[in-house]
Amino acid sequence: SRRWGRAMEIVKELEEKCATPTWKLKLVADAMTVEMHAGLASEGGSKLKMLITYVDNLPTGNEEGLYYALDLGGTNFRVLRVHLGGKDGGIISQEFTEVSIPPNLMVGTSDALFDYIAAELVKFVDQENEPPARQRELGFTFSFPVMQTSISSGNLIKWTKGFSIEDAVGQDVVAELTKAIKRQGLDMRVTALVNDTVGTLAGGRYANSSVIAAIILGTGTNAAYVERAQAIPKWHGPLPTSGEMVINMEWGNFRSSHLPVTEYDFALDAESLNPGEQIFEKLISGMYLGDIVRRVLCKMAEEACFFGDDVPPKLRVPFMLRTPDMSAMHHDSSADLNVVGSKLKNILEISDTSLEVRKVVVEICNIVATRGARLSAAGIFGILQKLGKDTMSNGEGQKNVIAMDGGLYEHYTEYSKCLENTLRELVGEEVSESIIIEHSNDGSGIGAALLAASHSQVD
Ligand code: ADP
Ligand code: MG
Repeated sequence: SRRWGRAMEIVKELEEKCATPTWKLKLVADAMTVEMHAGLASEGGSKLKMLITYVDNLPTGNEEGLYYALDLGGTNFRVLRVHLGGKDGGIISQEFTEVSIPPNLMVGTSDALFDYIAAELVKFVDQENEPPARQRELGFTFSFPVMQTSISSGNLIKWTKGFSIEDAVGQDVVAELTKAIKRQGLDMRVTALVNDTVGTLAGGRYANSSVIAAIILGTGTNAAYVERAQAIPKWHGPLPTSGEMVINMEWGNFRSSHLPVTEYDFALDAESLNPGEQIFEKLISGMYLGDIVRRVLCKMAEEACFFGDDVPPKLRVPFMLRTPDMSAMHHDSSADLNVVGSKLKNILEISDTSLEVRKVVVEICNIVATRGARLSAAGIFGILQKLGKDTMSNGEGQKNVIAMDGGLYEHYTEYSKCLENTLRELVGEEVSESIIIEHSNDGSGIGAALLAASHSQVD
């Protein structure tokens, strides 16, 4: 029919606009490498902030004692207690709790957010077996862009991922947390402030000494890696004895004219809490993929009556289709695609879909996820190029491990498979033997505890 024909045109156009041939990914990777150089050269020199983390030593395995960590960065936050065994002792025990953040606190005041977090922290601390003989120490994983002033202080640059708390911007987030902890009457010192990527890098390195970079693919996305201190022109402080410095790239804010963007991406960005920002993040991360799919389906409903004469009202609601539901539809292996059918029915209130329609929905999920996964592989390739690890010249038999974490990477199998295949395609068969992607399950919290241990201020 004419309507079906129009619907197919929309899908075809989407596919063309989202195309990521290898040559294009290489241009994206080259742009990433160039921006990395620019961001390291001068403050504000690039869309990539390339933040100095003050982490110039990664865990060695000698860390010892009981440490806390708090991980704030998305819809949930986690509190951890880790007992580190010292040399060859490894992690003796760890406990954690996960608490969701009430949506109103994500757009309220700084005090309200930190009071809530500190109150949950107190509840968790109260479950301690016996109170420690010395002051408790905590590593704070805070996954938003921060301009650090030391390993344990830093000012919030901006919120991302649906958070928007005006009075916290520009404030020292450790001071804010510390005040809230005091208000709760808890005796605890925040000794390390890290980004989740830096935490994942630290946790990854503790488990495997060949880890050189960490990537988060969750609600948002980011990357951190180990840079030579000499290669950071904007660093005017003393050269660390290790000769190294961990850089928090804040790669979610990367953008390039080579990125394949569509009308749906423009609209999503324009209607977002942070228009014009985090463009890379809006193409590849979990917060947005489902909403891109929703926007395509909405246009097909409006212009091609894809779901019948009327546009299903739920299709017009922003973020109605979440990435986990998109992923469930994409992975539907049943002959009649009944997962797709029930997701459309239960979430979008579109009932009685034909198999043909369901197949098209899966196809759209595939196009959007494939673009995201291939672009994230291109970003990783850009980092490897910056480090000179993209060729065989670098040490025979040497392994380079990339620690990966985040709910999107962990649960969206089609996405992570595609990412890994694309990285192999970009580096080539031979070099790909030396590049290993490792899932660092919840390394970021443990990493923060490890960094709190190595930067301990009490004895
Ligand atoms: P955060 O990034 O908020 O710290 P996570 O790393 O746990 O937390 O990632 C959560 C995100 O991962 C969700 O917002 C969602 O986008 C994505 N996600 C979770 N489960 C799935 C799933 N089954 N399929 C696809 N994406 C998922
Ligand atoms: Mg996280």
